[in-house]
Amino acid sequence: MNFVPSYRAMSQKNEPGLWFIFWRQKLLASVERGNASIPYCKSPGELGLKPVRTCFVGDLDGTACYGAECAGQVSIPEGMIFHGLRRLFGSLADSHFWIAGRAREILDWERTHQYCSQCGAPLREKTDERAKVCPGCGLVNYPRISPAIIVAVIRGNEILLARALRFPNGFYSVLAGFVEPGESLEESVKREVREEVGIEIKNIRYFGSQPWPFPNSLMIGFTAEYAEGEISVDKNEIVDAGWFTAKTLPEKIPGKISIARRLIDWFTDSNANAGANPDH
Ligand SMILES: [Zn+2]
Repeated sequence: MNFVPSYRAMSQKNEPGLWFIFWRQKLLASVERGNASIPYCKSPGELGLKPVRTCFVGDLDGTACYGAECAGQVSIPEGMIFHGLRRLFGSLADSHFWIAGRAREILDWERTHQYCSQCGAPLREKTDERAKVCPGCGLVNYPRISPAIIVAVIRGNEILLARALRFPNGFYSVLAGFVEPGESLEESVKREVREEVGIEIKNIRYFGSQPWPFPNSLMIGFTAEYAEGEISVDKNEIVDAGWFTAKTLPEKIPGKISIARRLIDWFTDSNANAGANPDH
């Protein structure tokens, strides 16, 4: 995939493009035999839709990609349905899925940043970058991205997995949390682990990152080694946590869409031959 993000269309207007159209946070797509496709047209008007806002997202292999948001009552184009974006993972082409995520984040920002948060004046689009500027006080607003750390803590041939209060029964994942103002990523990783399960860690290493447009996070993944302490869950966010081997993983773990699963898969791949822990 060759995707070039941009705030302004480079190609000629009136050329057809991919339109990522949202209504109530759901994405318009047609699904046939498990394969979802995004409408390819000159404008949402061709589909009988009148969006309240649109944005340019970028070019995918030379094809313009747009975002659009509908509100109120809509007549859904024939053969298409508005789907929850996360449920389209695996049925949309990967490139289209992540461009849809970009479009959704930009549209969310456009909707929630119409007025200046400092003086209340209506914001104007900045012409030379993806930003909005206040004509009253000059405050510049960029799309809001909230960084969150996610970490696989390893002890020998075991991984630390926890069940958050909001997770369904039997579902466990690696620890994650939002970065606080003024904190480095490493400090954030240490604090989250200490707060949620009461242990200390060492050898924090960068693993990879992933945009998480539900609604506007950037997940920054790390691995770390157990240093000391006994697991003691905070009971507010985390209701249970434990050490698992590659052969004794919980019944339910995150799906392939997430970096959480990539971290768990990294652990199981590197411990494929390790023995089962008799404690579990
Ligand atoms: Zn202002």
